[in-house]
Amino acid sequence: MIDTEATDLPELPGDWRRALAVVAHPDDLEYGCAAAVARWTDEGKEVVYLLVSRGEAGIDTLDPEVCAPLREREQRASAAVVGVDTVEFLDHRDGVIEYGTALRRDIAAAIRRHRPELVVTLNHRDGWGDGPGAPRNTPDHVAVGRATLDAAADAGNRWIFPELAERGLAPWDGVRRVAVAASSTPTHAVDAGPGLERAVESLLCHRAYIEALTDREPEEYAREFVTATTSRAADRFGGRPAVTFEVFPR
Ligand SMILES: [Zn+2]
Repeated sequence: MIDTEATDLPELPGDWRRALAVVAHPDDLEYGCAAAVARWTDEGKEVVYLLVSRGEAGIDTLDPEVCAPLREREQRASAAVVGVDTVEFLDHRDGVIEYGTALRRDIAAAIRRHRPELVVTLNHRDGWGDGPGAPRNTPDHVAVGRATLDAAADAGNRWIFPELAERGLAPWDGVRRVAVAASSTPTHAVDAGPGLERAVESLLCHRAYIEALTDREPEEYAREFVTATTSRAADRFGGRPAVTFEVFPR
């Protein structure tokens, strides 16, 4: 058996210009990989965020109609901190996002529109780890992660969703990798050091969500979370803080 824990993680290849990051909720990218996004935009790469829902079911004390625009504002602010100007929302219903052709079509349409070489998403597996008793992932993350992996291929096939071509969205077969953040079996890493402070600030933009989630001081909470998650794989990345990804080549 290969001891993957002991294997060094190679740097995620930088031979691309455009990325599309697709996640279920506002805050998913900030909890997962904002430090990597900061690094990429520093290098002049273009990154677009696609949010499948507005996260309107995320705050117990707020009615969804009040919550949706608030979380949209927080998401746009947190994207701007790491150099992302384009943030789009698909308006699937938070909490009950369904894996299926409708979701695949919506994501494939975005891939055709933005023509990325790299697609980023969040852990699509049932759990947040392998072993018995690993915390369960949420159904929204599973649905969106799976649909994104599928849509990367759908986007390039003219016979899947031909209605998209009728809307002027020509097939795009240029996605070379799908990088899954927060995977328990990562294959690659990105140096989180240069973007670490911005990653903290970016997560902190979800202030209403964080204040509802914890009694802790928001900045201390955000800093501790980002520091802990980016130091987890440091021993496999030359001692540097890292955002890790499981990369599926295409
Ligand atoms: Zn989420």
